[in-house]
Amino acid sequence: MTQPNMETFVSLCKRRGFVFQSSEIYGGLGGFWDYGPLGVELKNNIKRNWWRSMVQLRDDVVGIETSIIMNPRVWEASGHIATFADPMSDCKDCKRRWRTDDIAINDKGERHCPECGGELTGARMFNLMFKTFVGPVEDEASVVYLRPETAQGMFVNFENVLTTTRRKLPFGIAQIGRSFRNEITPGNFIFRDREFEQMEMEYFVMPGTDEEWHDRWIEDRFNWWLALGVRNQNLRIREHTKEELSHYSKRTVDIEYDFPFAGFAEIEGIANRTDFDLKKHAEFAGRTLQYFDEATGQQVVPYVIEPAMGIDRCFLTLLIDSYAEEEVRGEKRTVLRLHHDLAPIKVAVLPLSRNEQLVPPARRVWDLLRPHFMTQYDDAQSIGRRYRRQDEIGTPYGVTIDFETLEDDAVTIRDRDSMEQSRVPIANLVPVLREKLDPSLPA
Ligand code: ATP
Repeated sequence: MTQPNMETFVSLCKRRGFVFQSSEIYGGLGGFWDYGPLGVELKNNIKRNWWRSMVQLRDDVVGIETSIIMNPRVWEASGHIATFADPMSDCKDCKRRWRTDDIAINDKGERHCPECGGELTGARMFNLMFKTFVGPVEDEASVVYLRPETAQGMFVNFENVLTTTRRKLPFGIAQIGRSFRNEITPGNFIFRDREFEQMEMEYFVMPGTDEEWHDRWIEDRFNWWLALGVRNQNLRIREHTKEELSHYSKRTVDIEYDFPFAGFAEIEGIANRTDFDLKKHAEFAGRTLQYFDEATGQQVVPYVIEPAMGIDRCFLTLLIDSYAEEEVRGEKRTVLRLHHDLAPIKVAVLPLSRNEQLVPPARRVWDLLRPHFMTQYDDAQSIGRRYRRQDEIGTPYGVTIDFETLEDDAVTIRDRDSMEQSRVPIANLVPVLREKLDPSLPA
């Protein structure tokens, strides 16, 4: 399978209602995107899958949801006000603005404008946090920030979760939510946004066991991507160098995907954040954020392993990796081989034609399936075209109602990947589809 041409791919995302430019009728806004009817389904499926594997199926992780705007002291303590910044340079000729470390260094050890080759200004640090004000007065005292990561919500609630759930180490706190970064150069479609969603989990462990847990989480998270069908050859694990480590990190490993527009780039980071955040919040808030270890009778500040990923980047990865163009009987078909669990629409209900005799049974089948699966009813144009349309949005199964249905009360199920068809009595349709879609779930 080849990776898609980015232009074709972006146009498919728009044409089929996965992703739209934010406020498009006004010319859009750089780094902001909207998700259409299919996009929101895929996004919700990604979130549900992550939550299931990180919270529901584990006995050591609980979830929370915290506010986007927090007391600004949080960002002083976490170091974000002081250090969450990227170097920025302007081109003296064409005036374009760049994130300095994104520009390649030439063989003379210099950076020139990637657009026009012009000379760049020296790098200035630019803090990526969006600022706003709480209350009616816009002065220094009312400045607040939109969170640039969800993680701090877990750290400041460490004590609340510990006392309300009586957890023992090791345990984790997970959260899904929006984050905001005023990126200097947003781009590559939804890869780098200014508003995006993150799925993060802070896993608190005994100091000394952190390195071992870090290795386990790297492996677990890599396997999550494989289990969703992302091809191994397009994934790799990359260690951060000392120079690029975040201020809180002892060791960070990125899971990277080989994007057609950028080569290997980060899709998830797994960091050993040590006891940095808890210690800083203890210091700034004047609290003791510790854990009482019954075995040794001592108070300890746990270390933290953090798998952190962005949903939008995950969305992009899953769509690109599942995209295929194939020749079928001399015709081109585009198919998204999305994992069943992720497919926005699970079953398409397709009467062979708009013949009025086929409408009642087709509606009956649709009514039967709708409570169980995300379905779509489509009777416009030829059946072949409709199969292609469903292939293009990754629908795993099509159910066709034809004239034989009127005789035998059976329908045809067509498989997206093999394109094989099988005949099934309507009475068995729900359990048969359930079995095909997810054999692990009870009927
Ligand atoms: P980069 O080096 O690409 O700026 P980062 O190392 O700052 O990213 P992290 O702070 O590790 O990113 O964020 C964790 C995850 O959140 C990333 O793996 C990515 O999936 C997602 N993410 C971060 N920034 C953005 C963004 N601007 N747009 C979309 N997703 C993002």
